[in-house]
Amino acid sequence: MNAKQKIDGRKIGIIGMARSGTACALLAKRMGGEPFVSDSAADNKLTEAMASLAANNIVFETGGHSDKLMNCDYLVVSPGVPADLEIIKNAEGSGIPIFSEIEFASWVFEGKICAVTGSNGKTTTTTLIGEILNAARLKSEVCGNIGKPFSDIADSSDTDTIAVVEISSFQLERIEEFHPQIALILNMTPDHLDRYENFEEYKQMKQRVTENQIATDRLILNQDDKESRAANIKTKADIQFFTTTADDGAKCFVKNNKIFLNKDSSPEEVISVSDILIPGPHNLQNALAAVAAASFLGVKPETMAAVLKTFRGVEHRLEPVGRVAGISFVNDSKATNVDSVCWALKSFEQPLYLIVGGRDKGGKFESIADYARGKIKGIIAIGEAKELIFDALGHDFQVQPADSLEIAVKLAFELAIPGEVVLLSPGCASFDMFEDYEHRGQAFKKAVASLKNGKEKDETVLS
Ligand code: ADP
Repeated sequence: MNAKQKIDGRKIGIIGMARSGTACALLAKRMGGEPFVSDSAADNKLTEAMASLAANNIVFETGGHSDKLMNCDYLVVSPGVPADLEIIKNAEGSGIPIFSEIEFASWVFEGKICAVTGSNGKTTTTTLIGEILNAARLKSEVCGNIGKPFSDIADSSDTDTIAVVEISSFQLERIEEFHPQIALILNMTPDHLDRYENFEEYKQMKQRVTENQIATDRLILNQDDKESRAANIKTKADIQFFTTTADDGAKCFVKNNKIFLNKDSSPEEVISVSDILIPGPHNLQNALAAVAAASFLGVKPETMAAVLKTFRGVEHRLEPVGRVAGISFVNDSKATNVDSVCWALKSFEQPLYLIVGGRDKGGKFESIADYARGKIKGIIAIGEAKELIFDALGHDFQVQPADSLEIAVKLAFELAIPGEVVLLSPGCASFDMFEDYEHRGQAFKKAVASLKNGKEKDETVLS
């Protein structure tokens, strides 16, 4: 069945009215379908989405999910929707097919898909690949979890379009035919253990990205990530590795501090590691992943190098936000699991104060200790996870609680001396104190900006 047959004249129930749900409904409408959108939130939280649906004559309901959904031919669920929702269980019980939004959009999309998944680094790598493809003047769209839903661009594509799609494990839960020509699994570390039974189930979900790949497709994996190496991933695709080691058997590797790309089995130099602007060993892995993907899309090494020399990374990921009285403040609000906190710590040589905490996602805070010894001068714990953090790290480090992020920033500022760093890397979700990680990052920046007026430390510079 082609896309038209799957959508035209069909009753499509869409659960979730956030960005991807609304984009999916609009795509369904453009393709001749009859979308019906349902969201459990109250009207006042959904005004923008409701206006856009109403303007396109799309029927919707708010404040709960009614049985109208059970009259649909199939359902499309947004990634944020809990898997154990009653309506979803009922639909499953009645044999109503349920798809994710990327699956739905992929029916319509005509170009090539480069899908980026993993526990950490997705947004950075997806953005970087997009920038490289832009610089190479290839027709490309960056979409998925990253802000612009895949559904937004799916029907304006042609066979030359490359969609670089950031994909979470939630989106992979309900795919059927989703078929990327290039798939990347950047790493697999424990995350979302509040949603999955265990780490094994979460890893299986990530691996679904390759489930429909065929022999001419590429699956790009991180050779340095022990979980990816050990996973023994079942795939028909051609597996290609990237590594920060000098293993010249990999597609992309680092030797004598330079990135090399294996092309027709002769290594070609891409760039010196010291010329890459995004900091830290994890970002080197992201750069290698992007180089490998771009090379399979025909981009020349010099184009990749030019972008890597200027790409500053993405907001809220190890983002330098200012220096006050010689103390540097770094916003890593997007570090929503413990592993990304460990990588953040690996990226600094200077002594630092770490602000960590928020809503726990089942992470093991003890693992921070291995990267913190001799580097962390103090930990300031915030949010619901405060006590967990104290229990995990309190015997090795000085852990102080703070009732708000603003108080935590002030406390760290008082304790730090010039040349030191104050790092917000929460290792937790933000929803106990903030709307989302962006809101948390903005609050951090605001707190840092207000230190400008602090009189207790002289020589105040905010850059
Ligand atoms: P994602 O989209 O997967 O959440 P981001 O690029 O937004 O990834 O980065 C999220 C957090 O993970 C940030 O704190 C960032 O510094 C860190 N990070 C980025 N790339 C990696 C990586 N390859 N390995 C581990 N941590 C990473």
